[in-house]
Amino acid sequence: MTTDRETLLAWVDAEKQDLIDFLQGFIRAKSPNPPGDTRAAADHIKKFLERQKLPYRVIAPREEMPNIVASFDARSAGRHLVLNGHIDVFPVGDGFGWTRDPWGGEIVDGKIYGRGAVDMKTGTTASIMTFMFLNRIKDRLRGRLTLTAVSDEETFGPWGARYLMEHHPEVHGDCLLNGEPGSPYSVRFGEKGPLWLEFTVRTAGAHGAYTHKSKSATKIAMKLAGELEAVTKIKPDVSDNIRAALEIGRATMDKAMGDNAADTVSLVTLNVGTIRGGLKVNMVPSECVFEVDIRLPIGVTKEQVLSTVAPLLSRFPEATMREIGSSAPSWCDPNGEMVEILQRNVENLMGFKPTPIVSLGGTDARLWRYRNIPAYVYGPFPNGMGSQDEHVVIDEFLHIVRTHVLSAYDYLTRE
Ligand SMILES: [Zn+2]
Repeated sequence: MTTDRETLLAWVDAEKQDLIDFLQGFIRAKSPNPPGDTRAAADHIKKFLERQKLPYRVIAPREEMPNIVASFDARSAGRHLVLNGHIDVFPVGDGFGWTRDPWGGEIVDGKIYGRGAVDMKTGTTASIMTFMFLNRIKDRLRGRLTLTAVSDEETFGPWGARYLMEHHPEVHGDCLLNGEPGSPYSVRFGEKGPLWLEFTVRTAGAHGAYTHKSKSATKIAMKLAGELEAVTKIKPDVSDNIRAALEIGRATMDKAMGDNAADTVSLVTLNVGTIRGGLKVNMVPSECVFEVDIRLPIGVTKEQVLSTVAPLLSRFPEATMREIGSSAPSWCDPNGEMVEILQRNVENLMGFKPTPIVSLGGTDARLWRYRNIPAYVYGPFPNGMGSQDEHVVIDEFLHIVRTHVLSAYDYLTRE
């Protein structure tokens, strides 16, 4: 007798070519953000769902940034699992440095190339296919499965997952699974949070030879920017289970995000992203504006950072500050049920156990964690993410699909 799990894996194998075709077509349906118009890519998903006779809704607070939501109820009552992925991708500019067409979805040596191949059309395809395969056996599942394919993620915009979470509580669910890129060796249970601040320094200004007439806005800005380094000394306050997970995940974090990433995960970091000041070499500048990107680890709040900045700023009467954006760090149980499910499935499929980690960058999964809904990310290596020749290895793509399919199945068959 064949088990459901064997049936699901057999379907992935038998329909492998369809899955690859879908991903190639998805990449060819350009959806760079900015500008963020995702209608062509959303149409690709809609056509697929229609062919599979899977009902869906389009929720589009902005016409050019549609979100697709589909749900089904299983045979009996139970828990609600939500699958989430974004449709928009990074832009490619003029394609400089690419050796393949960024919108070609070309296959070379077992890899699919194109913008979005890993961030995150592979993960979103895994969500869509999971929804399709599990729908076929819904009379053997319990609870509810919801698919959310959203726009407006790459710029942290308000019209995608944020809009759904605020206006459509039916997408909250009891647990979230997302396929953003990371590494097949890791499951992400948390991420750091950005805090963006803009500082403006104004002085009277003067002729460049008359430095006795005015203070220099650029010099003040440089001094202030240097003193802001004080925020990097703030120590996070984390619970024992998070501390233990961060310790165990060190090697995996370095492997996924580069050497020393494990240290960076637990630090407040500060990056002066832009600085603009002065009009001409022989003038004492009357204005200088700079922006800083501070990243908060789990266990540090925005209030802590701002209360470190306030006394520094008060020593520079020519300077003012404005917050231009922030998201709090987010986390859920590093040893939660979905982690254990993912670990067991990956171990069975590949022979290794992915490690729970925290990521440096952000994903929409944070929005679920803010509402105390456990939200986990399991996705492919970020080959070429945000740069050139982005690609996914086809075998890895299929592995991500299998892992999401089996893990969703496990979650929806447990009591
Ligand atoms: Zn992404």
